[in-house]
Amino acid sequence: MSMENDIERVLYSEADIQKLVNKLADQINHDYADTDELVVVSVLTGAMMFTTDLFKRIKVMASLDSVDLSSYAGATTESTGTVELIQDLTNSIEGKDVLVVEDIVDTGRTLAKLVDVLKDRGAKSLKICTLFDKPDRRVADVKADYVGQIVPNEFIVGYGLDYNFLYRNLPYVGVLKPEVYR
Ligand code: 5GP
Ligand code: MG
Ligand code: MG
Repeated sequence: MSMENDIERVLYSEADIQKLVNKLADQINHDYADTDELVVVSVLTGAMMFTTDLFKRIKVMASLDSVDLSSYAGATTESTGTVELIQDLTNSIEGKDVLVVEDIVDTGRTLAKLVDVLKDRGAKSLKICTLFDKPDRRVADVKADYVGQIVPNEFIVGYGLDYNFLYRNLPYVGVLKPEVYR
């Protein structure tokens, strides 16, 4: 079955996304120019595509780690109130500059949980970079330090973002046709 038939419209093309990634990489390279080691923490699975594109553009000393958290239960477009850490970091972040990389911040519950988990581990600094942000939807008190693009209050898919585990492999970001949810 073709994925593309399920897309109602494209919001951000591949070229739009690469511009956003380049802008964020420039800011990060500037701000972390003096770091001994920047630990880039990718929040699986949604941030995978964004992380690989961003990480290749980071020019300071950097390592890569990942975490996995759950907030969605299958075929839904709403996160649940409880967020669980499913997979922790592999390496210690003590004394390191840490940059959490997210696909999108919506209610903020996922990031709030992650910040809570990481905050007592002795990191030198802890910042958040997200490709997309829906600030109007925020429930938890978190703010990203680097934001690629503020997006409207619509459920978006593609470039890592899924609906019911699908559509992550679209190279652009778009909105699904309403009948897909039925
Ligand atoms: P939050 O905990 O901030 O409500 O949601 C965090 C996670 O929910 C994001 O990292 C992302 O995986 C998912 N999410 C939030 N909004 C959207 C959206 O518009 N589309 C998709 N596909 N996932 C979303
Ligand atoms: Mg995510
Ligand atoms: Mg998801």
